[in-house]
Amino acid sequence: MARDTSPQCKQCRREGQKLFLKGSRCFTDKCAVDRRAYPPGEHGRGRMRQSEYRTQLREKQKARRYYQVLESQFRDYYDRASRQPGVTGENLLRMLECRFDNVLVRLGFAASRRQSRQFIRHGHWLINGRRVDIPSYQVKPDDVITIKPDSPAEPLVREATDLTSGVPAWLQADYDSLSAKVLRHPERSEISAPITEQLIVELYSK
Ligand code: SF4
Repeated sequence: MARDTSPQCKQCRREGQKLFLKGSRCFTDKCAVDRRAYPPGEHGRGRMRQSEYRTQLREKQKARRYYQVLESQFRDYYDRASRQPGVTGENLLRMLECRFDNVLVRLGFAASRRQSRQFIRHGHWLINGRRVDIPSYQVKPDDVITIKPDSPAEPLVREATDLTSGVPAWLQADYDSLSAKVLRHPERSEISAPITEQLIVELYSK
């Protein structure tokens, strides 16, 4: 399956803010955004011309990088969001937030989305007792997430739980058994992604 393999710290520097793509390193003074707070590349320190289009484009790119999805996948999420009832931007964020790889990060069971995807692809997690190895799988209310019995990833998962400061109210985690339950879909106010979704809607509505 295709994935974005560009250097992750460069992605944060391009967006001008920490997107927490590298797990524990993001919380140390090695963070590239803290050390070099300007965009990468030869003209990184030059003056950047601002325009409405550029602002909207950057917001879309930031969302894509934050959730680690490719351009075509992102566009597909948008199209599905726009066909659903309700506010398109909120529908879009809700779908991204309910991806299985993101949910493991929110639960504290993975230190980054990249690690989360690796765990999932290697079959370390079950949903409702069945192996789900698709990172984009959309979790639903009442889904029960459990680590595969005797999974060799368990020490890494326990290490990741040390990094988390809390679990959002729409999820419930049990760190002893490394299991969780999806209580409901998230409200917009419960989605902590640093994204202004309206700018993305404006970009795609042009
Ligand atoms: Fe981004 Fe983390 Fe790299 Fe900092 S350390 S630039 S937050 S990926």
